[in-house]
Amino acid sequence: MDIKAVIEKYYGLKRAQLECLEGFEDKTYKVTDQDKVYIFKQYQYSVVNEAVISAEDKVLEQLDKLRDHKFPKVIPALNNKPYIVTGEKIYRLLTFLEGKLLGDSKQSVELLSGFGSLLGAMDKELLSCEEIALSGRENNWDLRYLELNLPYLEYIQNPSDRNLVKYFFLQFDEMVGPVAPSLRKSIIHNDANDWNVITDGQKVTGIFEFGDLAYTWLINELAIALPYIMMNKEEPLEAAVRVLQGYHQELPLTELEISILYYLIAARLCISVCNSAYGKKVKPDSKYMVISEKPAWELLRKWVTINPLKVEAAFKKALGFSWNPPFRQQDLLKRRNMYLSKSLSLSYKKPISMYRAAFQYMYDTDGNTFLDAYNNIMLVGHCHPKVVAEGQKALASLNTNTRYLYDNIYSYAEKLLNKFPVSLNRVFFVNSGSEASDLAIRMALAHSKKNKVMVLEHGYHGSTWTGIDISHYKYASSGGQGKKPYIIEAPMPKVFGSGYEDDGTCGSYYAGITKQRMLPHMKDIGAFIAEPVMGCGGQVPLARGYLKEIYSLIREQGGVCISDEVQVGFGRMGQSFWGYDLHDVLPDMVILGKPMGNGHPIGALVTTDEIARSFEKGPEFFSSFGGNPVSCAIGKAVLEVIEEEELQKSAMDVGSHLKTLLKELQNKYSTIADVRGYGMFLGVELADPQGIPLTDVAQKVKNQLRDKHILVGTDGPFDNVIKIKPPLPFSKRNAEKLTYELDLILNSLL
Ligand code: PMP
Repeated sequence: MDIKAVIEKYYGLKRAQLECLEGFEDKTYKVTDQDKVYIFKQYQYSVVNEAVISAEDKVLEQLDKLRDHKFPKVIPALNNKPYIVTGEKIYRLLTFLEGKLLGDSKQSVELLSGFGSLLGAMDKELLSCEEIALSGRENNWDLRYLELNLPYLEYIQNPSDRNLVKYFFLQFDEMVGPVAPSLRKSIIHNDANDWNVITDGQKVTGIFEFGDLAYTWLINELAIALPYIMMNKEEPLEAAVRVLQGYHQELPLTELEISILYYLIAARLCISVCNSAYGKKVKPDSKYMVISEKPAWELLRKWVTINPLKVEAAFKKALGFSWNPPFRQQDLLKRRNMYLSKSLSLSYKKPISMYRAAFQYMYDTDGNTFLDAYNNIMLVGHCHPKVVAEGQKALASLNTNTRYLYDNIYSYAEKLLNKFPVSLNRVFFVNSGSEASDLAIRMALAHSKKNKVMVLEHGYHGSTWTGIDISHYKYASSGGQGKKPYIIEAPMPKVFGSGYEDDGTCGSYYAGITKQRMLPHMKDIGAFIAEPVMGCGGQVPLARGYLKEIYSLIREQGGVCISDEVQVGFGRMGQSFWGYDLHDVLPDMVILGKPMGNGHPIGALVTTDEIARSFEKGPEFFSSFGGNPVSCAIGKAVLEVIEEEELQKSAMDVGSHLKTLLKELQNKYSTIADVRGYGMFLGVELADPQGIPLTDVAQKVKNQLRDKHILVGTDGPFDNVIKIKPPLPFSKRNAEKLTYELDLILNSLL
């Protein structure tokens, strides 16, 4: 039977005009018959649907007691039944609520707090309502069943977007999961978005569309309402606070409920974008499916830039609760001084007490968000959900060592070695860059049967005994042990300040000096270790052509060439995956660390079959943790994320944008003597026109950026080079923010 005929037969409306209002499921019509307007609903028949509809009717009946607001009323059919079952369908007629939608209204303070009051009053009334059909309902729009949306994730096309959603799924598990049993449960509307709410002038007058009713955590009512209120707002938290205050006056919230709102709001946004992505697939022409898609994504991307503690503090304070940071900095400093040594240093004049982090953002304990332009270890982003998930899974299944057979060490080794040319086909897994460089020297000397090592001035390769021996940056610093006799120093082949161009002439010039230094030791040098772009040296790309000449000199006299890729490897350079490729050389050994595990301690040495075989003649090599299944799972996840999210390309695109912006600042300020580096590994050297390092200025810039919540470091022999090496999710907008603030600071320091 067609809809009009049903309406006429069962409700006696003879001249019904129908307008189909789309929904995610079921069908809703606006019916006009003569001067009267109604809502007519059609559902697929099922026992469950029938029970849910009956429950909805009871809820509406109970709400009818509330005199201050309007709710839809059920209009019985001619046979006096609240709904009709015919032809595998259920039908019902409801009153239509007249008014301007809250979504179309200018959302004044009064209107927002009125909206909160409506929700509070409604939920208070429903506290006493019990409906079995709703208790058993599992609906993917109910935040309690967030995981029902997991299958929709794959419909989100952009992998970085998908991982942002996965990040919030993960946070939900971490932060909401453990307290879930303590949350109050009740029947709630469960879809109080501003398109379901009507207003009259400055008053919120009613709410409709009860099709998502759920028996769930009470706080979800607000977790659902608030995102829509915050969309497209300059000051989203201020708007949210008004709604919360209105609600709290009617039905007081608990501190626990408020403390998890940040994560629940994010979860609602995730449900929305997941369903839009899926909806686009199944109903490509539907506008309804994607109505909030754009603002939901915008808010979700903004949400990750807001420290969860800031939200908690703002909400708690607005409702009259006290809020204290989870840790006080004085206490942390006191305990640090009690238990750790002064040989460990803290970054920045004003240290930062860190709380949590997400991608390129770090949150402190006071509610501030820092834009991270410094921590290259977090290559694919802080707390990347794929890396965390793979680590968690592996930790919960098996952790052992290389004396047993297990699959993932081989699949990881294969994936890692695929990133190298075929000659580099043996990997030794260790736990850090230091361990890798230490092992590299041991192996190189064992293979070459020589006893001297050539290093670059200002180079750093690790903190072990040998690591310090080969790190001029440490042994030549004040208080350092000095150069050991087996070490040969070569000058840092730095173009800036050399008087040469980077067209090969500078490289040859430094290669010439290096050769002179090598001469007295020819045939004794077993290893040469260098970074392709020197990090601690002050973000210095080795002069073009230098490595090629030195590698051949070293090899001619029987030594091994080691590329330290601990800082620069894994795609950060943008144009190449490894730093040595920038110099068109092929090392005999490569050492890896830092970004390899995105913060998990893992390192590796990659070398040739021939060198590995020489090493096999010595004692067994064993590392308790090196190559354990958990580390391998994490390392593999990192490689996969780099590929999925095309982070190497991003390092190139965002890095070149950032470098251009920094060069523009160089034109503006004579204090910027040099801007250099590749991809997202850049250095800004501050010096006066005579080339005198401006160490103090660099320190001021670093500390003032920190005060503006942007993290960079300084380094180089005079500590006058600003180091920029962010997690690779760092965006062009982040680059613009960084250079904008840098501009202001440099200007103020003139
Ligand atoms: N090599 C280089 C180039 C490094 O920068 C570092 C650490 N800063 C290391 C090796 C040592 O790595 P780790 O601190 O993980 O031992």
